[in-house]
Amino acid sequence: MRETKLKHEGVTLRQISVNTAVVGTGAAGYNAADRLWSLGQTDLLLLTEARTAGTSRNTGSDKQTYYKLTLAGGEPDSVREMAQTLFDAGCVDGDLALAEAALSAQSFLRLAELGVPFPRNRWGEYVGYKTDHDPRKRATSVGPYTSRLMTEKLEQAVQEKNIPFLDHVQVIRILRDDARVRGLLCLDTAAESPAQRFLLICCRNVIYATGGPAGIYASSAYPPSQFGASGLAFEAGVSGRNLTEWQYGMASLRPRWNVSGSYMQVLPRLFSTAADGSDEREFLLDAFSTPEEMLSLLFLKGYQWPFDARKAAAGSSRIDLLVHQESLRGRRVYLDYRRNPAQGAFRFEGLAEEARTYLEKAGVCFGTPYERLCRMNRPAVDFYLDRGVDLGREPLEIAICAQHNNGGLAVDSWWQTSLPGFFAVGEAAGSHGIYRPGGAALNAGQVGSLRAAQYIAAHCRGAADEEGFDALALSALRPLWGLAERALRQPGSIRERIRAAAVRMSLYGAAFRGAKELEETLAAVKEELAELPERVSAADESELGWVFRYRDQLLAQSVYLAAMLDYIAAGGGSRGSALYTDPRGEKADPSLPELFRFTLDEGASSARIQEVVCRDGELRFTWRPVRPIPEDDDFFENVWRDFRETGNIY
Ligand SMILES: Cc1cc2nc3c(=O)[nH]c(=O)nc-3n(C[C@H](O)[C@H](O)[C@H](O)COP(=O)(O)OP(=O)(O)OC[C@H]3O[C@@H](n4cnc5c(N)ncnc54)[C@H](O)[C@@H]3O)c2cc1C
Repeated sequence: MRETKLKHEGVTLRQISVNTAVVGTGAAGYNAADRLWSLGQTDLLLLTEARTAGTSRNTGSDKQTYYKLTLAGGEPDSVREMAQTLFDAGCVDGDLALAEAALSAQSFLRLAELGVPFPRNRWGEYVGYKTDHDPRKRATSVGPYTSRLMTEKLEQAVQEKNIPFLDHVQVIRILRDDARVRGLLCLDTAAESPAQRFLLICCRNVIYATGGPAGIYASSAYPPSQFGASGLAFEAGVSGRNLTEWQYGMASLRPRWNVSGSYMQVLPRLFSTAADGSDEREFLLDAFSTPEEMLSLLFLKGYQWPFDARKAAAGSSRIDLLVHQESLRGRRVYLDYRRNPAQGAFRFEGLAEEARTYLEKAGVCFGTPYERLCRMNRPAVDFYLDRGVDLGREPLEIAICAQHNNGGLAVDSWWQTSLPGFFAVGEAAGSHGIYRPGGAALNAGQVGSLRAAQYIAAHCRGAADEEGFDALALSALRPLWGLAERALRQPGSIRERIRAAAVRMSLYGAAFRGAKELEETLAAVKEELAELPERVSAADESELGWVFRYRDQLLAQSVYLAAMLDYIAAGGGSRGSALYTDPRGEKADPSLPELFRFTLDEGASSARIQEVVCRDGELRFTWRPVRPIPEDDDFFENVWRDFRETGNIY
């Protein structure tokens, strides 16, 4: 690593030259840095906008799941079978599925060795349980905060190695030439004067571990500290893949937390109000013939958390649809544990068999939802209490929230993107398809970061190429310098603008997608992008980070919305966590608005993958068949010979 200076308009900028810059301090970024170092590629710099920000460290759920190859018991499992499970999610490339299965045990055991306390039995077997879309029992967990513990242990490993690290550094532009990535333009968010404002990184490789593009949505289960930076990658011509595929579901807004499991199984009362809190109504009751019918579906939401188009007509996802309808009407929706639904006018014996027997077995066919929750899962009550919300005294505001992007930046089987030298790992990369097994995201983050590190260590060593870098950097710097200066002179609230753009996206570009609404939203986003210089504002130097986040947010939204429209134009139906309006389709209930008329995709488009790239300011979409799971000649002597010669990294 080498530090130099670059002069611009009388200001001297800091410039760092390094072989690899790793961006992001989530579970994926830390693992990338740790692995690179261990593989001997020590000319690296780990940087992040905030060390303790991001999804991995700040999120969790009832039982946060890590998906891995079976390592216990007598049930058969194999790398090939796990790859097949991942592949069967639909729209998944077979080579990625195979790599995620093949390196699953190595990645998992490394975390265990680092001290992540994955439970094992007295013989040392890592016993598992079955998660959604999982034919085996491959899931494990260390409790509500699996990803936090992973991050902390990986961070410790990185710190012990003294890997060079920069905090408060926000990437605001990816620098490239015609052939490959050349570096990063960053904002120093701790800068106190314009002279310290920008930082340049000249590098041969970037490992982009910036997480999911959470900032595009307002209704979000992501932690508030996660924003993402995928828009910048699209701007730099990095291809996106499966951008239409997300997971959305019901979550509380303050704090952000999925209201799955017991939160639903104890049958809370759902009500909505006008924006000012008036006109309280139990809106679900209107949509069902009896309270028991409604409550039986509400119970199922406990283990059918994400919105699933296949369950929208008659299944539990009808509840999500009705909740979103209230949001579209400008109303706010709450879970209420203080009082029973329908003023208690329901009978536990009248519930569907599954709900009734479960609640009877749990001994909770009594009292208020709060009393039932206390009996069934006291930690679930305490979780909110610890965050200042007493469910016994106040209702909990919820919405249909974005939780995870299954798609993302397109990567090859070494997690290199379409831009040579630029690797994407963790949630920034799109390796999943429509229905991923629960927990597969954390596995993919560890495997992808290991694969990228292996490839760089084998093929991309050497000093960064500084020739011509100054000119490249200055041409990227000038407009963004100008944007910052302008923002500092203009009045307004940049955070309010970001919020408004995110609210619009949550209403019209999330789980429920109508072509007309998407077109209108895209037009509004494009208009804001075109008028960006007039719209940005910053009260002082410390607010500039938000100016560049706003830019990234709009860039990302424009690509995601265009991907949804292209999907509709290609004839795609409702699938995964997305419902597309189809005028020729069916409605679950005649009283619902036309937005909810839809046709299921039924797997018709799951063998083809949508990709998008931005060239000369235009988005170009392509559809191609999924790559099959590779069928290699695995004769040992041949693999060994190649391994001795190339490490089989090609
Ligand atoms: C509520 C919830 C529950 C979940 N449950 C599960 C589960 O049970 N199982 C599972 O497998 N997955 C689950 N996930 C998904 C999983 O937690 C995430 O996909 C994963 O943690 C992402 O890790 P990451 O390292 O890719 O990104 P993150 O942990 O989000 O880290 C991103 C990093 O990049 C930094 N960064 C971003 N932009 C910039 C920039 N411009 N410049 C510099 N730094 C930047 C951030 O500050 C952060 O340090 C869940 C997610 C949520 C929200």
